[in-house]
Amino acid sequence: MEDCVFCKIIKGEIPSEKIYEDDLVLSFKDINPGAPVHVLIIPKKHISSINDLTEEDSKVIAHVFMVAKEITKKLGIADTGYRIVSNTGENGGQTVPHVHFHLLGGRSLNWPPG
Ligand code: AMP
Ligand code: ZN
Repeated sequence: MEDCVFCKIIKGEIPSEKIYEDDLVLSFKDINPGAPVHVLIIPKKHISSINDLTEEDSKVIAHVFMVAKEITKKLGIADTGYRIVSNTGENGGQTVPHVHFHLLGGRSLNWPPG
């Protein structure tokens, strides 16, 4: 999608610190980290929010979690623990309308979130 910041990152039009990439997903460091480890994992297909997921997106969403698992090992947070979050809509605090999963770790995370 033309005006989407994450689609621009996928196309290389906006730089990012890539952590992982394959045909289906891209992972890169969040520009405004909320924890020592804060990366985003996104499907390469533009999907605006979880509300817009269809059955055919099941494969890529499942793949996001398999990739997340590998990234936690790569970044050394698999054993200490982590959180995966997908903010959706206004109350959820979603600011970028391209489905994304925050992977946070490297410190003890507050619960419930603010
Ligand atoms: P959310 O607020 O849940 O929609 O998450 C969007 C996230 O994208 C925020 O944590 C931002 O810091 C992050 N973000 C926005 N623009 C960029 C960018 N160009 N590179 C990396 N992360 C970004
Ligand atoms: Zn997009």
